[in-house]
Amino acid sequence: MTDKKILNYDVVILGSGPAGFSSAIYSARGNLKTAILDINMFGGQPSNYLEIENYPGFPVISGFELMQKFEEHADKFGIDKYPMAEILKINLISEIKEIETADTIFKAKAIIIATGAQAKKLNIKGESEFIGRGVSYCAVCDGAFYKDKILAVVGGGNSALEEAMYLTKFAKKVYIIHRRETFRADKIICQRTCTNKKIEFIMCAQPIEITGNKCVEKLILKDLKNNKNIDLCLDGVFPYIGCTPNIDKFIGQIKQNADGYIETDINMQTSVEGVFAAGDVRNTPLRQVITAASDGAVAANSAARYIEILTQVTA
Ligand code: NAP
Repeated sequence: MTDKKILNYDVVILGSGPAGFSSAIYSARGNLKTAILDINMFGGQPSNYLEIENYPGFPVISGFELMQKFEEHADKFGIDKYPMAEILKINLISEIKEIETADTIFKAKAIIIATGAQAKKLNIKGESEFIGRGVSYCAVCDGAFYKDKILAVVGGGNSALEEAMYLTKFAKKVYIIHRRETFRADKIICQRTCTNKKIEFIMCAQPIEITGNKCVEKLILKDLKNNKNIDLCLDGVFPYIGCTPNIDKFIGQIKQNADGYIETDINMQTSVEGVFAAGDVRNTPLRQVITAASDGAVAANSAARYIEILTQVTA
């Protein structure tokens, strides 16, 4: 016997980014009793994006505002929302899936995993030690602390370049450190970064150590062309080197690809019946708000079909 509350749903969605809320909209609109859970506040990774300018219908919108719109839209169809709900145990394998949090057991006919991905660490000496004291993974959250300071952003993708530009609003100088000669970021973003006078590029260099006393004082780089070390005196380091999927709770129950992302077919079906995955957490060629939202719609539609068959079989 458990003294935990037991709640029954048709569909439980894990994660509240664009994939989560899009699947909630489709699921609830399809008349399925739907709950959405997130270990954090709602909105997922895009909530931290400064500006999104490639989501159709919104020439420019902040990630936070766009995600608020997603949530308001889902609310219209009636969903149950559980932010700050940490999953303690999960059983994906049984016909009725079970998700246990501190005070509740959620039972679901189908689950949609939309837990997204999180910032990758450089895994160098000093990185973990200086988190909150000069190492940050969120320019929007921490940029304002670095007025007139010197910063480094590591990475060559869209995130690194966009966040570096944002940081120039506060910092007097921002180094962009990239391990290759060419950037992965979109051309338009590269062009904008190149014309920003506060940005200095250090190409073909790899961070090897972060040092300091109370706070970050130095970033040591390896120049990959001549193998010599470069010491950069600075006040903060922002690694933006991509993401890793949030799948800790599902390991061993579901098939992942070599990089750890959940494998799905085109219907967002995972290796487990009744379990679907959508957005950045799955094997996908493009990780954008639009593709996550699209995945969410497909996943909810597949979940609805699955529940329909399940109900016919058990009737
Ligand atoms: P990303 O595109 O995967 O880029 C990661 C960058 O970090 C790459 O340049 C990579 O170098 C570098 N890197 C990876 N591991 C490293 C390591 N250990 N040490 C040093 N450098 C390392 O990641 P992202 O920029 O976070 O973007 C993720 C996804 O979100 C992308 O699809 C991106 O387009 C999207 N996004 C879109 C927007 C927007 O549309 N506004 C904004 C942000 C992100 P290499 O190039 O050498 O591999």
